[in-house]
Amino acid sequence: MTFFKKALPANKCPYCAGQGYFQLRLGGSETCSHCSGSGKK
Ligand SMILES: [Zn+2]
Repeated sequence: MTFFKKALPANKCPYCAGQGYFQLRLGGSETCSHCSGSGKK
């Protein structure tokens, strides 16, 4: 199986894709608890 190289830099938080927050389906956003909103690992 081939693994694709991710376009995102490795130092970005994998949970929020470096955004620092999650987009909620119902609207609004929630700060990522894994990176405390910094978007970094
Ligand atoms: Zn995060």
